[in-house]
Parts: sequence; structure tokens; C-alpha cells
Amino acid sequence: MMNHSAQPSRTRPETAPNGLWIGLDVGGTKINAVAAGEDGQVHARARIPTDASSGAAAVESIAQAVRSVLAAAGAGEGAVRAIGLGIPGQVQGGEVRMAVHLKLESFQLAGWLSDQFSVPVTLENDVRAVALGAYEWLIERCQRENQPAPGSMVYLSIGTGISAGVVLNGRLHRGVSGMAGEVGHAVIDPHGVVCKCGMRGCLETFVAGWGIARQAGEMLAAAQHSGQPTLLAQAAPLTAERVYACAAQGDPLALALAEQVGRYASRAIDNLFVSYDVDCLVVGGGVACAGEVFFAPVRAELERMADESPLARAMVGPPGKVILLPPGADPVERGVLALARQGS
Ligand SMILES: [Zn+2]
Repeated sequence: MMNHSAQPSRTRPETAPNGLWIGLDVGGTKINAVAAGEDGQVHARARIPTDASSGAAAVESIAQAVRSVLAAAGAGEGAVRAIGLGIPGQVQGGEVRMAVHLKLESFQLAGWLSDQFSVPVTLENDVRAVALGAYEWLIERCQRENQPAPGSMVYLSIGTGISAGVVLNGRLHRGVSGMAGEVGHAVIDPHGVVCKCGMRGCLETFVAGWGIARQAGEMLAAAQHSGQPTLLAQAAPLTAERVYACAAQGDPLALALAEQVGRYASRAIDNLFVSYDVDCLVVGGGVACAGEVFFAPVRAELERMADESPLARAMVGPPGKVILLPPGADPVERGVLALARQGS
């Protein structure tokens, strides 16, 4: 797999005079890889499908992703300085557990990959890795605006699932078992519907992509029963993205659902502030990508809470404490490269 133009490590290629940091975002269907130089400049990107037919095939795909991005950069294996990767699952001491989409129940992935390429490897849970990237983006934004850099931040990812990553004193706070910030399964309504985790009324059942689709289905059935017209009727199969597209077109039912999601999401945000007392909270993830139509009801509810309660006013009230991640912030790429730099 070595590129023919690749040189031995002592005479590294011109594209990577000081070695390359490799960042990998590992998913159940694809792996995104990026190679960057010491100055942070990206030299190459590569995307390969994940072979998740077995755990062994999945880890081989991960090594293949490193080779692919090196080939794209015109560099050999000797140019790699360190590797950082984010992976769905519980991560502790370089070991990944319960990565069901990759059929990895328990595997020392950092050690294995480190042996393959003879470089340091830093492994982190995918949302925790993105949290690190969101924090880097925040620091950069503060520098640009001549604002003091925040020392602490929570990144709340609202997408297919819900999870948070916590940065305290400029460092990722992992918790005893690497699970700090797993708020998707915080119970909001003990009498609610059964969640994927087996409990009832978790935050995910209301605010995750599948939870929003579920509620939209219920609302659509009720509307059809009562003869109420709604754009949701043409949006099958219902997804969070389609619900927000209908809301953006002014559909009353989709707007009502967006408001309901905003109420639950804002409570989760307030809970994270009272739990971690951070400088700010950044919201991102697939559902949050809907932008203002998603975020306006969240902001409205936070303002209402701040009006009602002095505690909420102190926690979520000050302007700029809750930030929607803008398009182009690239927290995934920033995060995995930050992990690589940490290890080198
Ligand atoms: Zn749950």
C-alpha cells in the first residue's frame, strides 16, 4: 500500500516536513480520515467504507483509512507522528467497549493501532472527541474577537442520539468510566414511552432524531383522525430533518413539535449548567443542523426560564452562554486532530 513516492522516515516527503498528525472519525458505515502538518494545515482527506462484518474487519478498515489518507497526502507510513481517533462506544485507557455498530465488545484499539504504525495513538469516544473540537473552535473564535478564552464548556450533541462532552479547566472531563455527559438517557418523564435503553421517558425519546420522528408520527395520526391538514402528511418517512423543513414552511403542527422539542432541550441545557457550572454550552449534532428553526424555540424557552427563576437567570441567562455551532466549524476534524496532537 505504500506510495511509490514515499520516502523513509529520515527523509520525509516535502508535503510533511515535520511529520503528519492523522485524525480518524470512525463510524459504523464510513471512516473519515484527515492528515495535517504541524502548522495545522490539512494535507489530505480520505473517506472509506467501514467493513463492519466482524470486529476484526472493522479494525482492519481503521488501519486501511490511515493508509488511504497517507496515499492521498503522497506520504509514507514513516511520516506519521501520531494518530487520534473518535469512535462510538465507551472508551477507557485506549480500550473501546460496547461499540455495537463495529461489533467490538471489548478491544484494546489504541494499542493495536499503535503497533501497526509504531506511533502514539489517542482514542476517545466520538462525542467527547467532537467536544474537544468544539472547544478549539470556541477558543479560536474568542481570539478572533479579542474575548477572554473560556476555561470550561459543555458540548451537547443532538442528533441520532443525544450525548454531551465536558471540558473543564481546558481539558476533557471523562469521568471514572469515560461516561461523563451521557445525558441522552437522563429520565425526563418516568411515565413516558420505553427508550432504546429500556428505561422510560429518557431525553432521547423526546429530543433525539428518532424521538422527534416518533412524536411527529403520533401528531400526524391525531391530525389525520381529526381532519386537520398538515405538511407532515407529505413528509413520509418522517425524520427530524423533514419535521424542521415543514416547520420552516410554517406548518402549525411541525412548529408546535419544534416548540415542544425546544422546551425539553432547554431543560437539558439548564441541567447541564447546574451540574457542571461551565462558562458556556455549545449545541451541535445532526438535529441542531436544522439551524434557527431548531434553535429559536430553545432560546425562547431559556429566556422564559431566566425570566421566571433567579437561578436559571444566573445559569443560562447571560447572553452568549448557549451557542449554536455554526456551519463550517468542523468540530469533528478539529477534535480528532487535537487528540492526535495530545498523544505526540
Ligand atoms: Zn434511554
